Amino acid sequence: MYSKTVAELSDGLQKGEFSSEELTRIYLDRINNPGEDLNCFISITAELAMDAAKAADRSRSNGKAGPLTGIPIAHKDIFCTEGVKTSCGSRMLDNFIAPYSATVIQRLNSAGMVMLGKTNMDEFAMGSSNETSHYGPVKNPWDTRAVPGGSSGGSASAVAARLAPIATGTDTGGSIRQPAALCGITGLKPTYGRVSRYGMIAFASSLDQAGPMTRTAEDAAMVLTAMAGFDPRDSTCVDREVPDYTAGLDTPVKGLKIGLPGEFFGEGLDSGVADAVQAALSEYEKLGAELIDISLPNSGLSVPTYYVVAPAECSSNLSRFDGVRFGYRCENPKDLEDLYKRSRGEGFGEEVKRRIMIGTYALSAGYYDAYYLKAQQCRRLISDDFRKAYEKVDVIMGPTAPSVAFNIGEKTDDPVSMYLSDIYTIAVNLAGLPGMSIPVGLADGRPVGLQIIGNYFEEPRLLNVAHQYQLVTDWHQQIPPGFADAIP
Ligand code: GLN
Repeated sequence: MYSKTVAELSDGLQKGEFSSEELTRIYLDRINNPGEDLNCFISITAELAMDAAKAADRSRSNGKAGPLTGIPIAHKDIFCTEGVKTSCGSRMLDNFIAPYSATVIQRLNSAGMVMLGKTNMDEFAMGSSNETSHYGPVKNPWDTRAVPGGSSGGSASAVAARLAPIATGTDTGGSIRQPAALCGITGLKPTYGRVSRYGMIAFASSLDQAGPMTRTAEDAAMVLTAMAGFDPRDSTCVDREVPDYTAGLDTPVKGLKIGLPGEFFGEGLDSGVADAVQAALSEYEKLGAELIDISLPNSGLSVPTYYVVAPAECSSNLSRFDGVRFGYRCENPKDLEDLYKRSRGEGFGEEVKRRIMIGTYALSAGYYDAYYLKAQQCRRLISDDFRKAYEKVDVIMGPTAPSVAFNIGEKTDDPVSMYLSDIYTIAVNLAGLPGMSIPVGLADGRPVGLQIIGNYFEEPRLLNVAHQYQLVTDWHQQIPPGFADAIP
């Protein structure tokens, strides 16, 4: 049962083959065994889940079920969930019980989904390996010596290990796509403004976007249909109709123009990753797509631009964690100054402090023009590259990450090498475009992801293109060894 997709579970529930209560119990059991060692969850909300499952079964017997009613889901611990601890992976919020739920949570709850728990993540979503979490690293189910990627590492690992059929994630510079790639699952970062950010703890507000992490593109389409849409409580949320994302999945990709940026296939790309990506591109050719070489000449600017913009925004967003209004407060402060300093000093981890310092520096008088303003100009150049490319091609493809999952501890002493894990994903956030990662192979037993980038609001096309590949291949069905035969 645990190996079924959301679409299959929806079907089974509808036909009465099993109840949501039975289904939820299976996943809760799997979270405890064999999932316990992976450290995917910060909170397991078993009681709430059983209540929600029973309520979903009741709605179904009253004839009020939708396609997602009764399906279990895990939420990244960045989304505020009313009455439930919402830590954002930080000691700062270790004692924070959210007084309201994020729009994403409200929407998925009202679609009848059943929350299993809150997943582990890099502290305040800053990281590419899940190692900055206050709650310890998450392991990759394909090889428990390896990281799952980050920052949505708990969500990715949980879906890959079949501890949840689907999870939510957020992506500021790659945090849905990169962990999806490293764990061999499907992840979609929607167009900026497609999904409400209300109640999603802010990292870099002009880049953050929530999306689904699933096994298949079809599942991502089902869940995005429920997640997306206008929300007056988020001023950057776009007022635009939400299509049924499952409607166009079956369109053949014959004649599709796929752009391949030379910059994504050069130095720094591991050969195992390059081979699996090439094999996937050949599969698209067999389906009748056309491969076209393109250039995104400013893509070399994306990592440095991001590491000015994102820290600048985070230094402002995280100023609210002052030891007074939210979360952690130091013991016996001498005075107000001491309270601020020690609460922040003790509450935040090293990576978060590094970002706050970089951001504060870049925004300070005298440096603003040299760094922040310059970064905004580079951001425009990066977006323009994509705009020009989409005059010639329908989608852009390349690797999601330069390597497969690296080992826990391998990059912790070298932040710059860690930052380069997102070299292919970051430009997409800077431009606000939608991007996906789908599993396309293994190298040294660890998964490889193909990144598919679309033009603004072209999520239907991305999902269609991904789905067509998944119809003719089975990488998305592979289960990490060791997670296949435990409990039903
Ligand atoms: N790895 C990138 C960072 O550390 C992106 C994180 C994210 O997308 N939240 O900032």
